Order: sequence, then C-alpha cells, then structure tokens
Amino acid sequence: MTTSSIDKLKSKLDFSIITNFSNEDLIANLYIPVCEVSGYVYVVVTPNTHLDYVKSKIKDTFGIDSLKFAKVEEAEFNELFSYVEQNTEQNTEKNTEKNDILELKDDDNAENTDSGEILLKYDSDEPDDVVISEDGTEQDADDASPDDFGTKYLSKKIGEVIISMGLATNEQIFNALIAAKREHIPLGTILVRQSIITLDQLKMALRAQLGIDTVDSEQLNISEKVLSILPEDFIKMYKVLPLVSDDRSLVVGMVNPNDKQTVANIIAYTGMNPKILVLTHYEFSMCVQKYFNETTKATNKIIKKIERQALSFDREETLFEQAQKELKDDSNIVVKFVNKMISDGIDMGASDIHIEPRLDCYVVRYRKDGILRVALKLPEKSELAILTRLKVISKMNIAEHRRPQDGSFSITYKEKDYDFRINTLPVGDAEKMVIRILAPAVSMATSKEEMVIVGASKEDTELIKKMESVPNGIILTTGPTGSGKTTTLYTLLKAINDEKINITTIEDPIEIRIDGINQSQINTKAGITFASCMRAILRQDPDVILVGEIRDIETLETAISAALTGHLVLSTLHTNSAASTITRLIDMGAKDYLVSSTLVGIIAQRLVRNLCPHCRSQYYPTREEAELVISGGEEEIQKFMKTPVYKPNGCEQCNYEGYKGRLGVYEIMPITKEIKRLIAQGAHDIQIEEAAVGSGMNTLHQACLKHIIEGKTTVSEFVRVLGPVKE
Ligand SMILES: [Zn+2]
Repeated sequence: MTTSSIDKLKSKLDFSIITNFSNEDLIANLYIPVCEVSGYVYVVVTPNTHLDYVKSKIKDTFGIDSLKFAKVEEAEFNELFSYVEQNTEQNTEKNTEKNDILELKDDDNAENTDSGEILLKYDSDEPDDVVISEDGTEQDADDASPDDFGTKYLSKKIGEVIISMGLATNEQIFNALIAAKREHIPLGTILVRQSIITLDQLKMALRAQLGIDTVDSEQLNISEKVLSILPEDFIKMYKVLPLVSDDRSLVVGMVNPNDKQTVANIIAYTGMNPKILVLTHYEFSMCVQKYFNETTKATNKIIKKIERQALSFDREETLFEQAQKELKDDSNIVVKFVNKMISDGIDMGASDIHIEPRLDCYVVRYRKDGILRVALKLPEKSELAILTRLKVISKMNIAEHRRPQDGSFSITYKEKDYDFRINTLPVGDAEKMVIRILAPAVSMATSKEEMVIVGASKEDTELIKKMESVPNGIILTTGPTGSGKTTTLYTLLKAINDEKINITTIEDPIEIRIDGINQSQINTKAGITFASCMRAILRQDPDVILVGEIRDIETLETAISAALTGHLVLSTLHTNSAASTITRLIDMGAKDYLVSSTLVGIIAQRLVRNLCPHCRSQYYPTREEAELVISGGEEEIQKFMKTPVYKPNGCEQCNYEGYKGRLGVYEIMPITKEIKRLIAQGAHDIQIEEAAVGSGMNTLHQACLKHIIEGKTTVSEFVRVLGPVKE
C-alpha cells in the first residue's frame, strides 16, 4: 500500500466510530475501524491481526457483523495508528468538526458530489487497495455500483440522524436518497418536500448533527440593503445569504457552514467577521426564488421608485438628488450646487442659465419667458469650481479659459430627458457661461390631433395648413433666436408625421426629440455640416426634411435642389420679417427664379409674454402708448385710446409677475403669384410686404396689436419685442 493510500485512509477515518474503541485495544489487537459504508464496517488490519477478535469486538460495540478488512503492513498500520492517537486526544472537538463537514456534504450538498467522487476513486480506481472480506478472501472494495456507493456513503449520516430521531424509516430514507441523487437535490430538502419530515425537524436534525444554530425563519425576511452586501452571483454559487447586518456585524446563513474558503471570501467582501448559521438548502432555494426572481426584482424596482417619488414630496432635496444621480458624483458640495442650479432652471421653465462675472462676484441669471433675471450670487471663490464642474460634465477642456468653447450634456430629471447646450466666452479676465435648456423629448405619435400654434389665429392656422399641404417646396420660419421658430416647425412636423412618409431632420442642436422622426445632429468639427448632411439625407429617400437653419449659400442651394426634386423642406432663417426673408435669400446668392419657384410660404414670428388672466386689470391706453403701437393717423390713435386694454398686476398664480407663459405673434406670408412676380422683378422687401398686406397679411405689429386688444399681452411687451411701430 502506498503512502498516498495511507493518507486517503486517514482522510476516511470516522472518529465517531473509532472513539468507541480504546487506543490500547486497537494497538494491542492490531485493528483500526475506519468507517462504515453500506452496512459494512471497514477495518484496517495487519497480517498478524486476530480477525475473529476484531469481528466479535465490533459486533459487540455496533451490532454489525458485516466487516470488510483492509490489510496493511505493520509499519503502515503503525503510521495510521499514531495518526489516530494524535487525533483522538482532542477528538471531541476535532471529531465534531470533521463530522460537520461530512454531514453537511451528506445532507445539504448532495449536488456537490466532489467529495463523493474522491471517495469513489479511492475505492474503485485503485485496485492496489486490497480489501479482504470478513472471511479473509480478497475482493473489490465496491461491490455496490459506484453511484450507490457514493450516495449511500454521503447520505448515511443525515439519514442516520433522522432515522435515529425516529423521524423517518429506513425505507423512506432509501427512496429519498434515490430522488436526491437523481435530482441533485440534498436529502433533507427531498424529505421536507415529500412531507416525510417538516422543515423544523430537518433543522433540528442539522443542529444535533452540527452543533451550529440554524437560521430562524424570521431572519429570512432580508432587507434589500442587507441582501446587497454580497453579490448575487456569489450568493447563488456558494449558497450563502446575508441575513442581518448593521455596519459592524453580519449574520450569514450558509448551506455549507464549514466551507472556510467561502467564509474567508465573505470576510474579504464585507470586512466583517460573520456569525454563521446553518441554512437548509430548502430555505436557500425559497429565498433565491423570492429575492432574485426577475419579476420580483422588477416589482421591487417599481416600489422603490414610487417610494422615492413619495419622498420627493416630503423632502425638497430629493429633486436634486435625482439630478445628482444622473451627474454621477454626489459627494461634493459643488456638484450639489450645480445640480440645484440646473434643476431650479428646469422647474421655473427657464430657457437659459447665464453664469457671468460682475465686478466683485459671479451671478447666475435665468432667462424665462424671454426675460433675464438675476437669481443668485455665487458663493465667494466658488466660481472656478462651478465652471469647472460644468465643463467636466459637458466634456470641455477645463484648462482652457481664453477661448470660447461649446459642449453639451444630458440629464434625466423628474423622468424626462433634458439636453443642455453650453458655451463659454472669455470676458475680460473671467469667463461667462451660458447653458441652454432644451425641452424634453415629446411624442409625435398623436398626429391626428388638431394642429395648435399658440397665439396663431384661426385664419393663421388655416394659412399654415394650406402651405403645408403642398407636396414639395420650402417653408421658412424666421425671427431672432428664442422667437419660437423651431417650435412652430415641430408643430408642422407633428401635423404631417405619418407612417407613410419619411421625415428627416438635420439640427444643431436637436432641440426636441420626437418619436418616429429621424433626427440627425450636425457636427462641424467632424465635417458634418447642414449641407453635407442634407446631401446624405437626400440619398435616404426622405419626403420631408427639416433643416435646423439656413446659414450659408451651400445649405440654401441644397435646400432648393431638394425642393425642386420633390421634397418638402422646412427651415429657419434669422430675419426680421417675412418680406425681408426673400431679399435675404437672394442676397445670400440664390437665383431669384429658383427662390420664386420653390418658396411656398414664410412665417415670421416673435414671442410675447402672456398676461396673467387672474390679475390683469383693464385701462384705457394713453396717447404715448397709442403712438408706440399704432401706425395709422390721428383717427386710429384716437380709436385705440378709447379701446380698453389690460396691464399686469401680479398674483399668486403668476408668481407676482403679472405674466404667465408666452404667446406667438405671427406674420404669415404665402408666396402668391403676385409675390412670385415681384421676386422675379427684383422688388424691394417694402414692395413685397405692401403687396402681401394688400392681399390680407397681418404684419407682426398688427398681429401683436390684436393680442393687446384681446387682452392677451401689453403695450410694453409690444415695444420690448417688436420696437415702436414708427421708428
Ligand atoms: Zn397673476
């Protein structure tokens, strides 16, 4: 017998059997009972052992007379015996521990057949291990099939405990073992599942067997926080569950509580020395189902979300926390400040946030309804940190202070996605930063609803609809930045959006994300310009193209050729009036006959503040006011002075501002035959405007005056946005 065989015998020594015999007796009579397998007691003997003595001794002690003898040389026997001697000295403790491992593997880890396999190999694959039957003849160690041998060996102990506790019969255990082996489920779990024993009885058996407390069922209501102490994969692989924890202590349930490596890993993960409890495989499976099931996880997420939302009503801070989460880092006070600044901007409906240097400090101003107002002073010496934070999130060069820079970032706030365009400008020794807040994504799915252009009269809307019904051509909206041009174009798109047509946009930036529309973003740094992007898009078979802005002749020419080849092109231009748009196009270099043949209509527009209907008060305008808004003669001025109009006051509803929201002012010019003729003649924009007014067009001034008379806005808004009518 080889040394390694002796080592394997050592590993198989069952001290719960050995300790029934005195060491003196073993050495005097040259035998060592090793273990019990399949009803046989395996005994190591030497050529000089008196086998009859051993047989009767073991029968007297165990009531078993089926023995299998393993014959070894005397030297080997001595080696094994001294090992037994060493280990039986402190055997009470050692014994339990060894048994624990064995038992556990028996019971609750039947699917982990590693240990079983090792044993099988030892007994079946090494024919050198001579086994002598009780009558002294040699025979193979495993007369049972390897499978049975392994299972029966592994399962013997827990089965025995359960039997000896009177909880199950031999036959029940035997049948359960077959099922356990077949399904790779531990015996204990099978017995519970088959209602042969209760879970409590299984736990009682385990406690008796292992001397370790079992998990209390109440401990299995694990909080999500505690559960997340260990990674899901780890929990599933090593069959452990974190049960209870504060920051300093941790209680862990383990299916294999003596798996020292796993315990070491838990310590490494958590930095805590866990108290270990025995967890049955049955309970473990129930918990995995309960906590790691995908549906359960999804539900928990929703519940968490609802809880968080509910919290946000209680605590103002949660609003910023949400933004913070999007902006990753939440530790820093600067981050909190920046997030608050941004979320405040969104909450108040601001379109821009200006962060600008003053003589001795930095101020933050918000533009709302077209009006800038100072909101706050930056904390002293914080400006650099705040500007740097904004540069970081918008991917700008933080070291660059002397050159203007552009960037962008996005956040999700109150479940809406907001995009921000941000740019810097060196001002003296300092830097000014402007953050443009772009509206959250909208759904364009409901294309069947009535087109609503805020501030447009019924007639205006009809005119726009008529323009839009042409199959090809160019429709332009014009006005300065912030006059609502893009919003109008999106409204037009929304009205014509349909599965049957292909709508593509080229924008800089994409101001509103729309469902069902292909939106592309230009990137001049990467060579993606309006013109190059448009040429690419034309190859994609579009029906309608929205070009964010016509800035140069190249884009204009591409737009014209798209219109000529059967596409509807929508775009914007920075001009003051509808008529001046035509002359601008020609000034840019477009051929007048191409402009007259492709242009369908122009919508010039502005936004004025909408009077708060709750607190406005009526009055008769003064002569000074009338002269600011009336272009006609004395008679018309007198007439206006007798017309009741409204002024703002301020109430709770409008935050004491007197105004609430904004209203569009439109000058809509369809390109009629007469105007086409004027374009071909190279007419001045004044002539074109006169012709348009002659055929019923309302100028911006007239449209805004109408809003004043209708009590929707004020004389001062008229002057602020359009300037006095007579300049
Ligand atoms: Zn009000």
